[in-house]
Amino acid sequence: MTDSLDRRIHAQQVCLLYAQAPMGFIPSVLIAPILTLILWDVIPHQVLLIWLALLETTLLIRIALTVAFQRCPPVDHDPVRWATRYIIACAASGVCWGGTVILLILSPSLVYDTLIALIIGGVLMGGVLTMTPVLNAYLAYALPLVLPPVLWLLLQDDLIRTTMGVTGILYLLLAVGTAHRYHQTLTQSLRLALSNGELAQSFAVAKEQAEDHYQRLVEALAQEERLSATAQKQQTLLAHASRLNTLGEMASGLVHEINQPITAINLYTEAGLARLRNQASAPAELRETLEKIAAQSARASAIIQKIRSFARQGKPQYAQVHVHELLDEIADFLNLEVRRHAIRISYDASPELPLVLADGLQVQQIILNLVRNAIDAMSTGQRDARIIVISARSDQKVVEIAVKDTGTGLDPDTVSQLLHPFFTTKPNGLGLGLPISQTIVEAHGGRLWATANSGAGATFHFTLPTASCADHSEYPVLSATINEQS
Ligand code: ADP
Repeated sequence: MTDSLDRRIHAQQVCLLYAQAPMGFIPSVLIAPILTLILWDVIPHQVLLIWLALLETTLLIRIALTVAFQRCPPVDHDPVRWATRYIIACAASGVCWGGTVILLILSPSLVYDTLIALIIGGVLMGGVLTMTPVLNAYLAYALPLVLPPVLWLLLQDDLIRTTMGVTGILYLLLAVGTAHRYHQTLTQSLRLALSNGELAQSFAVAKEQAEDHYQRLVEALAQEERLSATAQKQQTLLAHASRLNTLGEMASGLVHEINQPITAINLYTEAGLARLRNQASAPAELRETLEKIAAQSARASAIIQKIRSFARQGKPQYAQVHVHELLDEIADFLNLEVRRHAIRISYDASPELPLVLADGLQVQQIILNLVRNAIDAMSTGQRDARIIVISARSDQKVVEIAVKDTGTGLDPDTVSQLLHPFFTTKPNGLGLGLPISQTIVEAHGGRLWATANSGAGATFHFTLPTASCADHSEYPVLSATINEQS
């Protein structure tokens, strides 16, 4: 990580070196020709021209390198190689500038010496700005540039020239110190900029990941919603299938129940017709017979109506309902079933109980299922001891409905498996009644459980949330009903 950062910093430094290179060409392009012109009359032309030619050659090399670097696509940049090339070119340029020592040697007077020394000092300082991105480039340039003239000046028996040499050494130290400082500051800035860049990049990556996770979460939620909708649909279908199954099992009892009024209707009709034939009947008697027929027909139609509504299929219709009203509505079915098995049934649900939040049909299905199980459990017991008690009581939050029988009761092994799908002890049982009842109760926000009675038999309990405590947001149909009512 640090290695890669250092490499990237170095690459940036090399880029800066080449970017600033054109400014560094000024001494060779302007100052060297001017110096040549000034010294033209006092120093042999040949020497001057050779010096200038060599210097300009190094300039051309630096220009060529710079152009090549600019044209080279960034991916091909090999910073170390490009730095080395430029360092060599700088060293060559420095050596040529250091060649001014010859000009000093040939210089006719102190004035010219001073001018040359001044120009060397300027060129030395100018390099600080342009070459320090790569410190070695500056050192390779500055040392050969300064040392030969300075050493020559120091070696002269002349106080002024020696002083100029000493000053040259001081300038060199100052320039190298400044270059070092500038280089370090630049490195720090680059490190900070690149680290921030990395940070911003990692933020961007983290943001992208977070967005990706969010997207997946949304998809997962949508999937879960779809699954839950499918599960709810399946539960509704299962509950419906179970109701149809119950009706199928009750078919003989129901047929008997419908047959009774139909038989009565037949009898009353025949009696009425006989009276009409004999013309013995007064209109009042005929009206009475017709009223009896109408009553029996209404009875038959009420039972058919109940069967139809019990068999209906549809989404759960949550509403605020009274438990005792639900029991009244299903009582016909329950009474029919217990009568067939010579079992007594009693109801204990006060109208004072709080309203519950429920789909009435599904709750009736649970009660019917529990009563039919109770009947099955009492099929072998003593006839006069057979009784089912359906009761309801409440605390603030729930209404608890219990179906108590005096049947075989529950052994511990049965209790632990009661709610498992397909667990049954009956020869023709499906083992689905209780699991379906439990699913319905849980969908209402309640729970279903069984307890053994202190005497004979068992009691099955389930709870429904009272309308004031139920979570209305979970039951959209119900909320609509409540809004309509309020
Ligand atoms: P099924 O009635 O088809 O067997 P259920 O899920 O309704 O399916 O009941 C599962 C089992 O629970 C029954 O077979 C029976 O063993 C036991 N059970 C249910 N109700 C009672 C009860 N009132 N008394 C004793 N056992 C019961």
